[in-house]
Amino acid sequence: MRELYDYLIVGAGLAGSTIAERLASTRGASVLIVDRREHVAGNAHDDVAIDGIRYHRYGPHIFHTNSQAVVAYLSLFTTWRPYEHRVLARVGERLVPIPINRTTINSLYGCDLDEAGVARFLAARAEHFPRIETSEQTIRARVGKELYETFFRGYTRKQWGLDPARLDAAVCGRIPTRTNDDDRYFSDRFQAIPTDGYTAMVRRMLDRPSIDVALGIDFQTLSREKIARRIIFTGPIDEYYDFRYGRLPYRSLRFTFETYDRPLYQSAACVNEPGEHVPYTRTTEYKYLTGQSASNTLVSREYPSAEGDPFYPIPCAESRALYRRYEALAKAESHVTFAGRLGQYKYFNMDQVVASALAKADSLAIEAVA
Ligand code: FAD
Ligand code: UDP
Repeated sequence: MRELYDYLIVGAGLAGSTIAERLASTRGASVLIVDRREHVAGNAHDDVAIDGIRYHRYGPHIFHTNSQAVVAYLSLFTTWRPYEHRVLARVGERLVPIPINRTTINSLYGCDLDEAGVARFLAARAEHFPRIETSEQTIRARVGKELYETFFRGYTRKQWGLDPARLDAAVCGRIPTRTNDDDRYFSDRFQAIPTDGYTAMVRRMLDRPSIDVALGIDFQTLSREKIARRIIFTGPIDEYYDFRYGRLPYRSLRFTFETYDRPLYQSAACVNEPGEHVPYTRTTEYKYLTGQSASNTLVSREYPSAEGDPFYPIPCAESRALYRRYEALAKAESHVTFAGRLGQYKYFNMDQVVASALAKADSLAIEAVA
């Protein structure tokens, strides 16, 4: 440990670790990175269970992006296992592909439509809204009320504790609608998982002489000005300001993990549960993600909750208005930079976190020179 670091970085997730790595390797900066958890990689953290199966402690993480720059950057620290995620949704007794595609429609409605037929089928049900502002409108404008209620209304109410009519259009808008047989969950050009996991990748990012990593340490307990000249904060922005304007809402999850003594548990990596009578949203079977073969298998279930770790910023008008007030405080800071999903209160995917962190590290480097 040093007397004084150039930077104290709070949070060893992908945002904090990317900024730490860039500042250390391109600026020669000294960095102390702390996390209140006992591990690095934040919510992307993965581990190996007793029986050797790799799993994700905070739910399934699949890396997908169209950014060549982000792939090139992370590839300095990992090789990749190409992986295309596929998800089925339970509707009554059936399991059908989600995103909705040709198979979904033909299987639910007992028909044999071709692509053009599916496009006509959906167009006949799609509703018109003068402006699309909510998640409900986004989906009903694409596929109509019945399919919206079948796949989105219940799942979304469980996941967010809010009706889709109160959530930004972009939330359900993340899920495409297809008329062909493409049954991949994501459409991005690059879809993969780090060969030996996200945790190993992040450890390599932080493995530099000028970066010290301190785990199990909460920022609140540190006398910050004695540690570093500048702070990069990737925890919840409202917490940094002691909830001065009130608490920003976050959605949390409780995970359960079960091992089954058989080679496979379900017929896809993820089975989604849009029915509101089922308390969890999805069941993930990790062997699909890792490609491991074993005689037993590990699955997790996700139970949404208002209490617990802040996993999801909630994209809606009220929370955005409150975030803007915290953002105004952040803009007036000269020694603190906020980054990441919690620091910027944005429903970022991993690639967006890394892209944004790379840009922040660049601008910090420019400031340091100026
Ligand atoms: P985090 O990973 O949250 O890291 C922030 C870190 O800061 C945490 O480790 C926390 O402990 C620490 N911290 C906070 N406050 C303090 C403090 N006061 N003192 C010390 N430490 C502190 N993205 C994808 O691209 N693909 C997926 O398939 C995908 N699946 C997901 C599934 C789930 C269930 C969830 C919740 C997210 C998923 N994501 C996925 C999003 C992905 O997890 C995030 O984009 C990314 O991990 C965010 O990185 P981050 O560094 O901004 O935040
Ligand atoms: N969603 C849904 N039904 C599904 C899958 C997704 O209603 O079967 C909605 C839900 O609101 C979810 C959002 O679409 O939060 C985005 O889904 P995604 O899988 O991207 O969520 P994440 O992986 O971030 O939890």
